[in-house]
Amino acid sequence: MARSGKTNPEPAAYALSSGFGAALAAWYRENARDLPWRRDRDPYRVWLSEIMLQQTRVEAVKAYFERFLTRCPDIFSLAAGGDEALMKLWEGLGYYARARRLKETAKLIVSLHGGRFPCTLEGLRALPGIGPYTAGAIASICFDLPTPAVDGNVLRVVTRVVNRAESVDDPAVKRRVESALGAIYPEANAGDLTQGLMELGATVCLPNSRPKCSLCPVAHLCAGFQKGTAEGLPVRTPKKERREEEHTVFLLRCGSRTAVQKRPDTGLLARLFELPNLSGRLKAQEALDAAAAWNVAPVSLLKSTEKTHVFTHIVWHMTCYVILCARADARFLWADDGELAADYALPSAFRMFL
Ligand code: SF4
Repeated sequence: MARSGKTNPEPAAYALSSGFGAALAAWYRENARDLPWRRDRDPYRVWLSEIMLQQTRVEAVKAYFERFLTRCPDIFSLAAGGDEALMKLWEGLGYYARARRLKETAKLIVSLHGGRFPCTLEGLRALPGIGPYTAGAIASICFDLPTPAVDGNVLRVVTRVVNRAESVDDPAVKRRVESALGAIYPEANAGDLTQGLMELGATVCLPNSRPKCSLCPVAHLCAGFQKGTAEGLPVRTPKKERREEEHTVFLLRCGSRTAVQKRPDTGLLARLFELPNLSGRLKAQEALDAAAAWNVAPVSLLKSTEKTHVFTHIVWHMTCYVILCARADARFLWADDGELAADYALPSAFRMFL
């Protein structure tokens, strides 16, 4: 469970034993789940999976990963692909900026490196779309370099093992974890330790006070387990509360078609499609008046639905009115159900009303 801790002005470095790295890598080789992106060490596939797995569950990513590879099997097809098709492939996965960065980075790798990933940590880090975690993962898994990949899962595992209560939201703690791990990387098969840490965090050393220490291959080396403090770790800095907003969404139907429009070029869900919507919570008559002002000749209001969608920093409370219209005004795009399914990337916040 998250709790705030006292800040140590000069905390000591974290120390991990080489036995910890060896035990974890060996455990990974025996126990790794069979995941689609683990079937080879192709940097394109590893990179794609790491980007998809940010903020998204493994089970949800599997189908997206396979589908993405059928449309963009290599970095050249990703770099050359159209934006609309890319957004459609990403639809429902959320955090759409990831997909745009993916394509921008693919274009750079094609133009600067002939489509081959740089094989050093520095070369990978020089690409604007590849951060320290992803670079460490690609370098160790694909190129066998001793480069840790530290994300929230790894921070949790290591702070429990070393039994330290500094906030894992503090960048200095991340540096200490990277340094401690960097000191114990094996000379061969570096990727097994990187993936062992990921795997332990995902399947055994679980968050929210739920470590399964009785199943853990490094319990004998874990100070948090031995001192009985693991469940209270890691310590997190309290987050700011999410901003709450109300929106009115319009599901305007004209014949068999539904009105959609493109979102602005910047900001939340930029350049994706959306159902027409307004800020605030309109009453039914106000919604009909708004539809009339859009020149869609509303005939009747068929029903209303209320749903909530949670983003990282914002919560949308949405009231959706389904309105039958007599005119398909050109201010909107009017798509039939087949086109909505196949051609328009509509984020979950709106698609859930269809
Ligand atoms: Fe995590 Fe428990 Fe293993 Fe320690 S012993 S690493 S707390 S699962």
